[in-house]
Amino acid sequence: MRFGTKAIHAGVEPDPTTGAIMTPIYQTSTYVQESPGKHKGYEYSRTHNPTRTALQKALAALENGQHGICYASGLAATDAVLKLFRPGDEIISTNDLYGGTYRIMKRVFEPFGQVFHFVDMSDTANIERVISDKTKMIWVETPTNPLLRIIDIEAVAKLARDRGIMCVVDNTFATPYLQNPLDMGADIVMHSVTKYLGGHSDTVMGALVLNDSDLAQQLAFIQNASGAVPGPQDCFLVLRGLKTLHIRMQRHCENAGRIAQWLLDHPKVGKVYYPGLPSHSGHELAARQMRGFGGMVSFELKGDVYEEAVRVMESLTVFSLGESLGGVESLCTHPASMTHASIPAVERLKGGLKDTLIRLSVGIEDVEDLIADLENAIG
Ligand code: PLP
Repeated sequence: MRFGTKAIHAGVEPDPTTGAIMTPIYQTSTYVQESPGKHKGYEYSRTHNPTRTALQKALAALENGQHGICYASGLAATDAVLKLFRPGDEIISTNDLYGGTYRIMKRVFEPFGQVFHFVDMSDTANIERVISDKTKMIWVETPTNPLLRIIDIEAVAKLARDRGIMCVVDNTFATPYLQNPLDMGADIVMHSVTKYLGGHSDTVMGALVLNDSDLAQQLAFIQNASGAVPGPQDCFLVLRGLKTLHIRMQRHCENAGRIAQWLLDHPKVGKVYYPGLPSHSGHELAARQMRGFGGMVSFELKGDVYEEAVRVMESLTVFSLGESLGGVESLCTHPASMTHASIPAVERLKGGLKDTLIRLSVGIEDVEDLIADLENAIG
């Protein structure tokens, strides 16, 4: 089955009781048993819920994986992965990544004894420099948030596999429509479902997709034992969102490409970060690794004046100023004070993230209106 057909049909079957074409919202905490231990496969909704089961199957199918496991947020999914490791285990992560991922690694798991290295993975030699026999996992995020660097998934996954190290890819920015990390050798794909997969800025959720059944069992155990599960209403909303993922992503990519080029041509704009631009350092790799360049664009104004960047962000009217991304509506984010505020300023700067960086999540509105909005704000 091709992507669009899978997005609409995968994991979803007519409801066995009524034939309802849409998976019902099974808003129930428990399930009546015929006799102790004799039930229809469902005992308690933290462990299993039919709406969640349908979504997990759909997500697994879209990522070409065997197992999908949903969590209450993207960070709860990351938390589950990190719980696989023990004190003394070392983890290598990219140095340009979502601030909350950095925060859970440094502030929650490091105090328990895990050791983290943050390196620029756009050059895989940087990974080899910090690998040791204690390295247990490599955490990749590509395109990175917010500088949209591109990391070679196949190269990193091979490097990891050759040494018996697990490779996890946060595929939130690309979505399975643009790249499938499992097909490139990654062990686990992680998603903030909150973003493009849900697609309508109305749900917070996370997911993991993988092929290894033993590992899936461990992660499902953590899902149930730690209890960070999404509710059935949210699962329904994401099942509904997924049906248009391919159409939305086409438009996100188209609009973002137009806007990136428009920004590049603007005399007041300095650096533009978009993997679809031939001037982007990861352009060739992105063209090889991805089926499109995504809906995220970051930029800085010439002169790097903080107050000027703030004025632009305050002046936008079609783009809303706020955290998050991947919804149908365009959003503008100030990473330094919002999504990446949990990374100390010196670390942010070391990774290349300036306080003047503006990040756009380009929505699926008419692109002419988005450009007019930027034109009015930038002046
Ligand atoms: N990964 C990336 C790339 C993100 O952008 C985010 C959130 O912004 C997350 C993970 C965390 O996901 P959530 O907000 O659903 O917990």
